[in-house]
Amino acid sequence: MSRTRRPRIAAGVASAVLFAAVAAVLALTTPWNPLPGHVPGGHVEADPALDFSTAEIARSKAFDSAVNPPAYAGLLVGLAVILVLGLTPLGARFIGWATARTRRRPLRIVVAVLALTTLLRLAGLPFDLWSESVLHRYGLSTQSRPAWLLDQLKSLGVTWVVYTIALLLLYALVRRFPRYWWTGAAAGGFVLVVLMSFIYPIAVEPVFNKFHSLERGQLRSDLLAMAKRDGVPVKDVLVADASRRTTSLNAYVSGFGSTRRIVLYDTLLKSPRPQIESIVGHELGHAKRDDVLWGTLVGGLGIAGALCLLYLLMTSPRLLRRAGVDPGGTPEEPGGASQEPGGGGAADPRTIALVLALVTLGTQIAAPVQNLVSRRVEARADAHALNLTRDPSTFVSMQHALSVRNISDLSPDAVEYVLWMSHPSGPDRIAMARDWARMHHVQVPPPRR
Ligand SMILES: [Zn+2]
Repeated sequence: MSRTRRPRIAAGVASAVLFAAVAAVLALTTPWNPLPGHVPGGHVEADPALDFSTAEIARSKAFDSAVNPPAYAGLLVGLAVILVLGLTPLGARFIGWATARTRRRPLRIVVAVLALTTLLRLAGLPFDLWSESVLHRYGLSTQSRPAWLLDQLKSLGVTWVVYTIALLLLYALVRRFPRYWWTGAAAGGFVLVVLMSFIYPIAVEPVFNKFHSLERGQLRSDLLAMAKRDGVPVKDVLVADASRRTTSLNAYVSGFGSTRRIVLYDTLLKSPRPQIESIVGHELGHAKRDDVLWGTLVGGLGIAGALCLLYLLMTSPRLLRRAGVDPGGTPEEPGGASQEPGGGGAADPRTIALVLALVTLGTQIAAPVQNLVSRRVEARADAHALNLTRDPSTFVSMQHALSVRNISDLSPDAVEYVLWMSHPSGPDRIAMARDWARMHHVQVPPPRR
């Protein structure tokens, strides 16, 4: 035990320092007050009844109660399955069974990753099918069942590639540097997160959508002129063929540096011109503040901290025993009960179930923080759009159109905010636009509906 005492203390300190750095960066860079300045007459309260008809509110409520059961059930079942696999010997046994005919170590890791991620995907599939049928019933999904299943298969394929690469690297480090693998893992994790975010727009997005440049014409030149006026260098605006999947409206910024792109859903192009400008103004806000890059750097630091923590957990004999893996048999102490010398303890590929369980747990714990920060960053992008277009009325009608078309939750409860809401609700965003209007002495009538 004494041999792992020093690296454990060092990993614990590194993990604490990295998480403190994440907390400090988030505390200092999050726009806690996205619309600074005095609001004459005080802040406007979010109130769906002000801008949405009773029918629109009723439809949103009905949709919410239809999508919540599959969403919560899927979350709980997904968590339960991976935690049972990772924190009992079941996962190790499953991997042992799946890799029984595989001799070579890297291949055993690949097979274990493929088998486990596929099993987890299958466990979640009934709930996703249920959600998809609700989306169909409400006219939000335009996909046939086979096309939807093909999407699921593609996303499983992306998971396979990412997890296989990450875990092959991780287990190579664990085996080679049993006491100090966390240093390489933390550095490698940071680099992988940054690399993934950078290549995501060119490596992953095209798997799911086709993109083309927004056609030459008034809209394109207006949007590029607006970007120029805003001081954000934008070479191109891309359109995604989202309509083959959904009727919902959306736009986003992804990548950074040379892969940064502003993407509009093709569903958006039928919207009135000023509304498109309003939404592009929001995306320019993200681009101008480098929100993707900052999010990536914070995510990378968080992953690095989490990997140091992973070392502490993976060197806990109690946890390994709980996961059905013999904690002895590290490369420096041959003679452990593992099947191959140097392959036991944390380096045993059968610990992959435990690793995935811990990753899932960590992701779940981080989600509320991510959502909290994301909502403020989104509000800042909204404020940017308002400052750029100086047209709160159009902003309000755009938000109204977005909420109605996407059947957004108009009054999310506290749990929904914590678990799912990466953006403020439509009424929240409209209330902020009214704050802006009060600050600039402009009248904002309720949108025509
Ligand atoms: Zn946004």
